[in-house]
Amino acid sequence: MGARRIEYLHAIGVDVWVRRDGPHDAAVDAAVQAAPSAARTPVNDSAASPSVVTASANGASSLRPPGPVDLRPPEPQVQEQWETLRAEVLSCTKCALHSTRTQGVFGVGNRRTDWLIIGEAPGAEEDKQGEPFVGRAGKLLNAMLLSLGLPREHVFIANVLKSRPPGNRDPKPDEVAACLPYLIRQIALLKPKLMLAVGRIAAQNLLATDVPLGRLRGQVHTFGELNTPLIVTYHPAYLLRTPADKRKAWEDLKFARSVFRRLAAQES
Ligand code: URA
Repeated sequence: MGARRIEYLHAIGVDVWVRRDGPHDAAVDAAVQAAPSAARTPVNDSAASPSVVTASANGASSLRPPGPVDLRPPEPQVQEQWETLRAEVLSCTKCALHSTRTQGVFGVGNRRTDWLIIGEAPGAEEDKQGEPFVGRAGKLLNAMLLSLGLPREHVFIANVLKSRPPGNRDPKPDEVAACLPYLIRQIALLKPKLMLAVGRIAAQNLLATDVPLGRLRGQVHTFGELNTPLIVTYHPAYLLRTPADKRKAWEDLKFARSVFRRLAAQES
């Protein structure tokens, strides 16, 4: 594991511990643990052992993206369909939320990406700026993605609901029913290799289940007619409130990365 990835893990609040016998992926993976042990040394410890210094000095080892990245806009015909859909979302009046929102929040990112990240609904800041995950939770989401080698601009980020529920209350079933077809159309245009649902509300609505989030983690679900693989993890806002679970979120992210690599290998 490169020093840069370790830095991003620190940014998301995961304590990374490197064995004194040398920094390597297996050691770090095994060492992403909640409880520190005397046999391990934290990378950001000022009294770091020589092997830890080596890990930091390895800064040249960059954060490898989990797959090739294509940042070109889609073909003009597909781009036109995106813009039509975006216009529909921004002028949507299908549920009562249109009367309390500032604006619809369509989604943002690379329209050719293999990764679709799905949250619950816009919050106050997203409603103001018209972009998903731009508040505190968004900053943590960005760091979580970067820990996988995925800058925010390389993925597509959307929500189940495109309008903010007042006071950030949970979405109502009729609001989800009205809004989900937009997400389904986004998925049809994007054809992502992998969807990552962040948080209980997104996961349960996408999977049409009331199974608790903890039991939805660690599995590859599928979504929709395209049977798009879907993995579930914690919502960054929850992780801000419950930092002890960041270690579990990192496990989910590594799981997503390994599933993605397997899917990509199957295709090539
Ligand atoms: N929480 C979400 O689920 N989505 C956002 O866009 C912002 C916060």
